[in-house]
Amino acid sequence: MAENELGIKQNVEKILSELPAGVELVAAAKTKTPEEIREAIDAGVKIVGENYVQEAIEARNVGRNVRWHFIGHLQTNKVKKAVGIFDMIETVDSAELAREIDRNCGKIGKIMPVLIEVNSGGEPQKYGVLFKDVLDLVKEISGLKSIKIEGLMTMGPVTGNAEDARAYFARTKKLFDEIKSTGIMGIEMKYLSMGMTASYHVAIEEGANLVRIGTGIFGERNQLAL
Ligand SMILES: *Cc1c(COP(=O)(O)O)cnc(C)c1O
Repeated sequence: MAENELGIKQNVEKILSELPAGVELVAAAKTKTPEEIREAIDAGVKIVGENYVQEAIEARNVGRNVRWHFIGHLQTNKVKKAVGIFDMIETVDSAELAREIDRNCGKIGKIMPVLIEVNSGGEPQKYGVLFKDVLDLVKEISGLKSIKIEGLMTMGPVTGNAEDARAYFARTKKLFDEIKSTGIMGIEMKYLSMGMTASYHVAIEEGANLVRIGTGIFGERNQLAL
């Protein structure tokens, strides 16, 4: 039986029961209704990941005791709304975006935890920072007062075979450890967000402690409304 033939509740309970200690689940909720998100929260989800600011605005009333992570591509004109809603932005991929988050957080007296999105496959069509540029970006934005770098996030190439992603996850973990060992002031390398429904087992083996799971919880995605 395919995972999406089980209910949301059973999917969440099964995943949570199988995750190793120290690994947190992010329920990737894009295109899902507030009711579906509530069902996942009722079943034990503690972090909801949203790709779209507008969907998060519509859904956030369902989860007062959960954390909201932004996991999509953040356009600078959406930053103002995003910083008011999210508890973490996992997809910082430029100094410009980091400065815009910092500026808007400064205005509301908030310090935003952020992850740097790494384009670990070096794919031209994907967002994220290339391996060779990540450390420079971290150094460049580490002094911003209203953001706090807490780790790295990557998608990795999606090929249909999770094993194909292993080398990219391993390399991202290596970079994560290297940045951690630099002792750059003002950052705290805590989170490594890697792995989706098809690849999270491999990602965990390679050191992920945040996994972002969508279809494995909610089933196939609803028609994209945005
Ligand atoms: C949709 C999405 C996921 C979840 O993907 P699934 O294959 O449905 O588990 C994870 N991360 C990001 C950034 C996404 O956009």
